[in-house]
Amino acid sequence: MTLHHRTCNLCEANCGLLIETEGSIITSIRGDEADPLSEGYLCPKAFALKDLYEDPERLRAPLIREGGQWREVGWQEAVAAAAAGLHALQQRGGKSAVASYVGNPSAHNLPAMTALAPWLRLLGGSNRYSASSVDQFPKMLACYLLYGAQLSVPVPDVDRSDYMLILGANPVVSHGSLMTAPGMKRRLARLRKRGGKLLVIDPRRSETAAAADEHLFIRPGTDALFLAAVINAVASEGFIDASALERVEGVEHLLDSLSPFTAEAVEGATEIGASQTRRIAKEFATAASSVCYSRIGVCVQSYGTLVSYLSDALNIVCGRLDRPGGAMFSSPAVTYSSKGSYQRWKSRVRGLDEFGGELPIAVLAEEIETSGQGQVRGLFTMAGNPVLSAPNGARLEKAIAGLDFMVSVDPWMNETTCYADVILPPRHSLENPHYSIVFHKLAVRNTAKFCKPVFEPVAHALSEWEILGQLCAELSRLRNEDAVAAGAEEIADPTAPHFAMSPEMFVSMLLGAGPSGLTMDDLLEHPSGIDLGELESGGLDRAVFHDDGRVHLSHSQIDAELARLLGEFESGQVGGVGFAAPRDDSEFLMIGRRSLRSNNSWMHNCPSLMSGRDRCTLLMHPVDAGRLGLEDGRTVAVGSRAGKVEVRLEISDEVMEGVVSLPHGFGHGRPGTRLSVAAQRPGVSMNDLTDDAVTEGLVGNGILTGVPVRVSACAGAGS
Ligand code: SF4
Repeated sequence: MTLHHRTCNLCEANCGLLIETEGSIITSIRGDEADPLSEGYLCPKAFALKDLYEDPERLRAPLIREGGQWREVGWQEAVAAAAAGLHALQQRGGKSAVASYVGNPSAHNLPAMTALAPWLRLLGGSNRYSASSVDQFPKMLACYLLYGAQLSVPVPDVDRSDYMLILGANPVVSHGSLMTAPGMKRRLARLRKRGGKLLVIDPRRSETAAAADEHLFIRPGTDALFLAAVINAVASEGFIDASALERVEGVEHLLDSLSPFTAEAVEGATEIGASQTRRIAKEFATAASSVCYSRIGVCVQSYGTLVSYLSDALNIVCGRLDRPGGAMFSSPAVTYSSKGSYQRWKSRVRGLDEFGGELPIAVLAEEIETSGQGQVRGLFTMAGNPVLSAPNGARLEKAIAGLDFMVSVDPWMNETTCYADVILPPRHSLENPHYSIVFHKLAVRNTAKFCKPVFEPVAHALSEWEILGQLCAELSRLRNEDAVAAGAEEIADPTAPHFAMSPEMFVSMLLGAGPSGLTMDDLLEHPSGIDLGELESGGLDRAVFHDDGRVHLSHSQIDAELARLLGEFESGQVGGVGFAAPRDDSEFLMIGRRSLRSNNSWMHNCPSLMSGRDRCTLLMHPVDAGRLGLEDGRTVAVGSRAGKVEVRLEISDEVMEGVVSLPHGFGHGRPGTRLSVAAQRPGVSMNDLTDDAVTEGLVGNGILTGVPVRVSACAGAGS
């Protein structure tokens, strides 16, 4: 038996694990109590590491599609075919003729994380996409505007806070997002035990809301109105902390802009009473310490950037930024920073803005379908499944099926990769070393941990680093051949110096450049990780990238969004969510949800997670179900502008009246996929109902919450 120290890389929480193996078999997985961040916590998904490693359907050799059949091939042939296909398309249609889509598991994987940038730079073109535009881009744009850098994301100091206000987040299930906080339930219980208060604002009584001191329902899509009213009340009651605003520009301008949004004015829209809003403003501003945390539920609405900006603005004007118990910046051992970019180019068809080198995934289908210069005819995907993750997935699936060529770096044949021409499956992450470059930076405590591979890589298996390195070399060689044939000088592969290193060397290099003084040897001597202490004040000095060193609250983009919000509010609807007229009994606003035993679409082939009750159900309040004469367990039809699905109804007062909830990541069992466990409980894809025609106002994020739908009984369908 061999004992391995490992960081779980399945979600953002970074739990420390002790994994026992005998040969190539995992015999046990348990939490590592010596891990300074997770202190022994682990969730049921950790055990899925064994399922994922052993999954007989995990691809272990490259595949090429020929005449509708898959043929297993060697790496050299597969990489040559992949590079040749992408190169040919770029020769014909320019670099933007090949789009790329990167799923979020790449951020949790050291070889993928460290190899992607040079590959995507080499591939070039304007059609870069990722899961970030159905996730956190609005939060990152808010940080770009406020602090001058999209990666300057403040983290709630939950371990010292006395008051936590949460909107659109369920950290008891997610364990934090843009807030790495393993064992969040324990952390929140400790907050309450020391006399603190947890308040959750959510259209569903989520697992976090159930663990809170107080939960208030809010009409989906109206969080911007609520936060505007809270800040307004903070100002009108004289709670602005002027002593904390020396480095903040634009406070007066913001407060003037928010003046129409009083607690009394917005209560009919948000369904949160004015007296409650004013009380919350007072509680937040007068607590010894407090922090407002908002996440995906607010990012995936029409005003995602504005809500994210307002939740930071509340922390700022109350003097909670860069203060213990408030919103703080970490001091990771491996630092990286990037100002990022915004509005450098626009999407060809609809004219949505670039952010961070990417376009919103909501435009990919139209970029494939619309002919003309710059039309997308090829796709590279890595660890992604946009057919299930992107709004109007059915339209995107049809568009992807009609592409001329597609390459996927992915270990599973999922609902998207089944359309590839070449699949290059990377080895399992347990066969790689691990250092969590991204999530140490977002963690609620400063720690550092490097993990050696659990298993020796099986023969011929390549990591993402090696696959992308080989693709870079082959694509460069093909371009070079063209250049030389056209009479130009030979050009060296610009990515070669990068791939001459290894991921471990890359981490060592970053560690050496970081502030901790730690070396790789130090990390190897402490396999459970090294504690670098609590979050410290002063992080703002590192986080602010604006030339004047100040936090900027005033921006023309925010002004425009506030003007849009006011105009819509006065007309009785915000972001497509109407509140002035009575609704028809069959009309609902759909929101998403996530289960502790699920993580997007890619863990549904794990037997240990898929056992038990069916989790892909439509939640509806009993009063609404009674009005429609629907019984629990009945199959219902749910329709939207984009599409229609049929799903089992689950009646529950977890959701507020007028709201239905469907989890994301389901919709399996499609022809061509190889996910037989997932296919036994396929569920339906909520993104067959979400609409790619409407996007968030500033960064083009997909709108996945507050989606207008109609629900009816399925003709002839019983329970
Ligand atoms: S919470 Fe996330 S990191 Fe922790 S064990 Fe579960 S899946 Fe792994």
